[in-house]
Amino acid sequence: MFGINRNGQTNGRGDSARAVTSPAVSEQDVLAALGKIQDPDLRRDIVSLGFIKDLAIDQGVVSFKIELTTPACPVKGEMERQAREYVGSLPGVERVNVSMTSQVRSTTPAGALLPGVRNVIAIASGKGGVGKSTVAANLAVALGRTGASVGLLDADIYGPSIPGLMGVHTKLTVKDTPAGPKMVPPEAHGVKVMSLGFLLDDPSQPVIWRGPMVGSGVRQLLGDAEWGQLDYLLVDMPPGTGDATLTLAQSIPLSGVVVVSQPQDVSLGIAVKALKAFQSLKVRILGILENMSYFVCDDCGKRHEVFSHGGARHKAEELQVPFLGEIPLAGDIREASDAGTPIVALRPDSPQAVAFRDIAEALAAQVSIAGYQQRRTIPLRAV
Ligand code: ADP
Repeated sequence: MFGINRNGQTNGRGDSARAVTSPAVSEQDVLAALGKIQDPDLRRDIVSLGFIKDLAIDQGVVSFKIELTTPACPVKGEMERQAREYVGSLPGVERVNVSMTSQVRSTTPAGALLPGVRNVIAIASGKGGVGKSTVAANLAVALGRTGASVGLLDADIYGPSIPGLMGVHTKLTVKDTPAGPKMVPPEAHGVKVMSLGFLLDDPSQPVIWRGPMVGSGVRQLLGDAEWGQLDYLLVDMPPGTGDATLTLAQSIPLSGVVVVSQPQDVSLGIAVKALKAFQSLKVRILGILENMSYFVCDDCGKRHEVFSHGGARHKAEELQVPFLGEIPLAGDIREASDAGTPIVALRPDSPQAVAFRDIAEALAAQVSIAGYQQRRTIPLRAV
């Protein structure tokens, strides 16, 4: 038996004179190899982004973690494969142990209102009925399914529909905390849910709040809830860009807004107005998405462009804002919502659920980009 392992190092038992000693792999070699891997959203290599943690080299065994900025990263598997390949092909390396982890960074302005919440994302629309609440509920569930901790706040004072969509009909409980008594958001489909609807004696009655009341009421709903640590808190905004919506956008610490539109011109025109209203308030546009984009016939499988699909994508390009994706018009999206289990939880492998999942990943990427850009200019609080 030769006393030489694959690296040419002797094992002390054989003929050491025959050993061809290759230099042990160094930390620099490993980092140089990993530096060839790019994060496609942040457009930088994962070494200079600081993603490599706990690098350890023990003889020919190289171990490290790749810590992404979101668990909802669609190229996680590909990055892991590249890391194994690049490091594994370095001379002297026998085994590569990679673990993929994530640490969602905060983009919300520092403040006491939501100390444990890293990102607050408004889901808005130019008008009612475009599927804003349906989108908010499904995106929240989709983000939660990636392993992120997620909350969903129903701030649609005109018609709080989130409790119904998420199937939550419990009464709120209150817990004593060091910061005083706090409402405990019930959890449904892996998401912590809070709604004005929980506080109303009769949710079917209209809530008549003017702008300032909306701002302070929703701030209270947010601040008096025991959210704990959340990676993403999605806020289902009131529809349109009236007083209530705009006051709310200025009253809570938003990371940015997602605008939901339908493809037809009228809806799109109103969505663009909403988008511009948020821009004028200096709220970051995380993206625009097209709901009820097209219809796939259950029987023949043929795709029908009922409302001339694709308008939102073109508008996004024109306005230079991110386009997050398209969701089909599908009977089971509505049925699942009506039954209190969003389609992403009910049939996670269906094409409809996959459409929501892809948008959730695109949204998480935009939040990571926002965090990265902020971090380059201002130091943020650590959470
Ligand atoms: P908004 O919050 O904008 O008022 P909702 O989310 O309440 O809109 O949706 C309005 C109606 O459209 C609901 O009945 C909902 O189930 C349905 N809906 C929303 N998106 C879709 C879709 N992609 N396919 C089919 N029905 C949808």
